[in-house]
Amino acid sequence: MIVRKVLVVGAGLAGLSAAIALARRGAEVTIVTLDDRAEGTSITITNRAVDAIEALGVLDACIAAGLTPADGKSLFSAMWDGAGNPLPLSAPPVPATRLPAYIAIYRPDLGRILTDAAVAAGVTMRTGLSFTGLADGGGHVDVTFGDGTNATFDLVVGADGAHSAVRRVIHPGIEPTYTGWMSFRIVLEDGPEGPPGFYTLPAGTGMLATVRLPGNRLYLAAGKRMDHRRIDHSEAVELLDSVLAQYTAPLIRGIRDQLRNEPPVVARPFEYVLVPQPWHRGRVTIIGDAAHATTPNLASGGSIALEDGVVLAEELDRAESVAAGLDAFMVRRYNRCAMVVETSLAMMRSADSGSGSTDNTTLRSKALAELVKPY
Ligand SMILES: Cc1cc2nc3c(=O)[nH]c(=O)nc-3n(C[C@H](O)[C@H](O)[C@H](O)COP(=O)(O)OP(=O)(O)OC[C@H]3O[C@@H](n4cnc5c(N)ncnc54)[C@H](O)[C@@H]3O)c2cc1C
Repeated sequence: MIVRKVLVVGAGLAGLSAAIALARRGAEVTIVTLDDRAEGTSITITNRAVDAIEALGVLDACIAAGLTPADGKSLFSAMWDGAGNPLPLSAPPVPATRLPAYIAIYRPDLGRILTDAAVAAGVTMRTGLSFTGLADGGGHVDVTFGDGTNATFDLVVGADGAHSAVRRVIHPGIEPTYTGWMSFRIVLEDGPEGPPGFYTLPAGTGMLATVRLPGNRLYLAAGKRMDHRRIDHSEAVELLDSVLAQYTAPLIRGIRDQLRNEPPVVARPFEYVLVPQPWHRGRVTIIGDAAHATTPNLASGGSIALEDGVVLAEELDRAESVAAGLDAFMVRRYNRCAMVVETSLAMMRSADSGSGSTDNTTLRSKALAELVKPY
C-alpha cells in the first residue's frame, strides 16, 4: 500500500467504505466525523454496490439485517399507478451475479454494521470532531481540526457529503444546486397492509417509493416541488400529507392514516453536484456525495459512494505512487458516477415537464444496463 497514514473525513457510506477497505489493506486510518448517527430512514443498496458490501466483509450481516429480492427481480420490478393498479413494465436489467440484486436496509442498522467493521479493521474513529482546513506539503498533508489540533497524513479522503468542507478547499466555488424538490421520508414501525414498490401519478408527475423492511417496518420516500426553506416537524407532516392525498392506493391511504400519529419525518432538499474530473488535488481527494451528489431517482447515490471506497483502496493498493493511484481511481469512477448524477437529474426534469413515465422508463433501463456491470 502506497499510503500509510490516511485521514478520512466523514463516517457516511463513502467514508466508512474507504476506511474499511484501506485499513484491511494495511493502512493506518483515522476517521473524523461531525456525527456518526445515520438518519432514521431506509436505503437500498443497488446493483454492484452489493459486491462492494461483500468486499467490505459485511454481506452476511447486511443480508441478515435487511431485505433482499426474489431472483430475477430488480428494485424497479414493482410499479403501481396512484390507485394501486399494476403498471406494465419493460423488464429492468438485474446483475448477472450470485449476489442479491439489492439489499434494502434501515440506515441505522447499516451504519452500525459498517462502523463495527471499521473498528474491527483497526480504524480510529474520532466522532464529534470536524475537519477545518489543510495544507498539502507535497509529500504529506497537514490537517487542522475543530478542536484546534493538527495532524499530518499521507492522504486525505474527503467523504464529507454534499456540503463538503474538503471540496471547498480543493475545488472552491463548486456547491450543490437545489432541484426545486424537497424529499420527505418516514419509517413506520407497524406499516399498513399493501404491496410495496413505486407508486406513480399520470405522466410521471409524482412518484412515491415504498419498501418493506424486516420487523414489519415500512419505509416511504416522497418528493414535493417547493421553495427551499427550513421546515419544522408539524409542517413536514402536513406537506407529506398533501403529497399522499394525491394517491388512492390502499397502501398509501393506510400510510396517510398513520401520519396522524406524527411519525418522525426526515425532510431534505433534493440537491446535486458533479465535480469535474479529476476529483483529487495532490494528496487530497473527495469521494461519495462530496464529488457526485445525486437525486435519488435511480436509488444509487449511496451505492456508488460505497463502490468509491472499495475502488479507491484497490487502486491505491496496486499503484506505484499516490498520483497514479488517484488517476486510476478516476478512470474507473468518473463516467459511472457522472452517468448516475446526469440520468437521475434528467429523470427528475422529465417528471417536471410531465413527460415522466415514458422518458423515465427509457432513461432508467439505459442507466441500469450500465450499473449492473461490475465497477
Ligand atoms: C430521499 C433520498 C433517498 C435516497 N435513497 C437512496 C437509496 O435508496 N439508495 C442509494 O444508494 N442512495 C440513496 N440516496 C443517496 C444517499 O443517501 C447518499 O448518496 C449517501 O448517503 C451519501 O453518502 P456519503 O458518505 O457520501 O455522505 P453523507 O452520508 O452525507 O456523510 C457525510 C459525513 O461527513 C460528515 N461531515 C460533514 N462535514 C464534516 C466536517 N467538516 N468534518 C467532519 N465530518 C464532516 C458527516 O457527519 C457525515 O458523517 C438517497 C438520498 C435521498 C436524499
